[in-house]
Amino acid sequence: MDDLYREQIIDRYKNPRHRGSLAPNDISYQDDNPLCGDHIQIDLRVNSEGIITEAAFDGQGCSISQASADLLIETVIGKSLDEAKDISKDDILDLLGIELGPVRLKCALLSLKVLKAGVYGLGAGEASDELVE
Ligand code: ZN
Repeated sequence: MDDLYREQIIDRYKNPRHRGSLAPNDISYQDDNPLCGDHIQIDLRVNSEGIITEAAFDGQGCSISQASADLLIETVIGKSLDEAKDISKDDILDLLGIELGPVRLKCALLSLKVLKAGVYGLGAGEASDELVE
């Protein structure tokens, strides 16, 4: 089972389904994981009912950071902003499906941190790890 998830991560890393940017967008946020050199930007389009209708990510870094971003984007399209706020660390770990040590956990959770900072309307540099605890 673990191998299946590893293959999924490598596939998402090499062939991301949702890489890109949206211009114009309603929400855009970016942040880094300095421990690993990962960078993620997420752009969202949100309709008048507060539903995320389109989403894309861009960035660079390790396979875990990029694959988790691609999986997160897939999850968030069609959700409301309130539902996006409820996505948890455990949801991301379920999507990835592998055990992660503390350093890799930061890689895996960077995209969720960026998403939540954007949805909560935080300013540049205000995203904190508390968003994903
Ligand atoms: Zn990383």
